[in-house]
Amino acid sequence: MSSIAIIGAGLSGATAAQKLVAAGHTVSLFDKGRGPGGRMSTRLVETALGQVRFDHGAQFFTARSPAFIDQVQAWTGAGACAPWAGHLVKIDADGKAAPLGGDTRYCGVGGMSSVVKAHLAGLNVTFGAQVTAIEGAPKAWQLRLSDDATAGPFERVLIAVPAEQTAALIGPWVPDLAAEAEAVKSAPCWAAMAVFDRPLETGFDGARLETGPLSWMARENSKPGRAGPEAWILHGSPDWSRTHLEAPQEVVAQMLLDALARHADLPAPIALSAHRWRYAQIETPVGTGFGLSEDLGLGVCGDWRLGPRIEFAYRSGAALADAIMA
Ligand SMILES: Cc1cc2nc3c(=O)[nH]c(=O)nc-3n(C[C@H](O)[C@H](O)[C@H](O)COP(=O)(O)OP(=O)(O)OC[C@H]3O[C@@H](n4cnc5c(N)ncnc54)[C@H](O)[C@@H]3O)c2cc1C
Repeated sequence: MSSIAIIGAGLSGATAAQKLVAAGHTVSLFDKGRGPGGRMSTRLVETALGQVRFDHGAQFFTARSPAFIDQVQAWTGAGACAPWAGHLVKIDADGKAAPLGGDTRYCGVGGMSSVVKAHLAGLNVTFGAQVTAIEGAPKAWQLRLSDDATAGPFERVLIAVPAEQTAALIGPWVPDLAAEAEAVKSAPCWAAMAVFDRPLETGFDGARLETGPLSWMARENSKPGRAGPEAWILHGSPDWSRTHLEAPQEVVAQMLLDALARHADLPAPIALSAHRWRYAQIETPVGTGFGLSEDLGLGVCGDWRLGPRIEFAYRSGAALADAIMA
């Protein structure tokens, strides 16, 4: 059994950690974020009408593979996620709405981060720890942190961060894996968060849009376990977000609010903000579940291996752990 460091405590890193700990390995997770979630984070917004919990990244997930279906059942049983009963539609280029259909969509109860938090339960995680380099030698790796401290030694290091950040960490040691990560392209996403003092009469709780600035909008207070005032998350489309990538967040928030106004009569928001995801959704995944150099004890996983979905992040982390345990 070995000591393993995992850089990144999003769902892929948490999944790899769970499996490795269950098999008897000693695992330490390091994440630069302030709390659990990664791109499944929940943003808390305080308003005069109460607190709002926004899923400003991932909105929901579906479950198709047997292992992930089992996992979702376990999270559901533990109260970490639940099916979203909201009325969801797709809106075409002519503005016509039709039911979205498809598989059951699950959300974290009280926020998407509940799922990652549940998955990290019992694990050794250090938040606020940004890893800037992997140093040392095989079987005695050290992590260099942004405050110049080090952590280690570890026999293995697994990297479970977005592709763009993976390349720099793995590059000095496994150039082939760095080249795979560098070839991955991700779309950005501007997310606006708006709170109102009365319900909006949209006729839906969530909508996927074919054209225009918005690709997705949803009533956060229709999701499982959300209390508080009327709150809408507005996602800019990949093209729109790219065009406005460097615009000030107040300007972006107002533009996305104006786009929402095409679908409902809006009162003035009581809170309005925006968050920029520079690397939101994978456009060109590698196509294999993980990368691993057995000799060096260095591996990589994350949604960028398989595709832009929570289920793929889970499967990638699980596949890397399975390969190490094989
Ligand atoms: C706007 C948006 C909407 C989305 N919508 C959906 C959706 O509706 N359905 C769906 O299935 N998926 C959706 N996704 C995709 C989904 O969120 C991801 O596929 C999934 O969360 C990826 O998990 P991960 O563990 O691979 O990466 P992440 O969640 O990004 O986790 C990586 C972690 O690494 C940490 N980290 C990064 N660099 C370092 C470093 N140097 N040192 C230490 N820690 C580091 C980060 O803080 C983060 O916690 C969406 C994503 C976004 C951004």
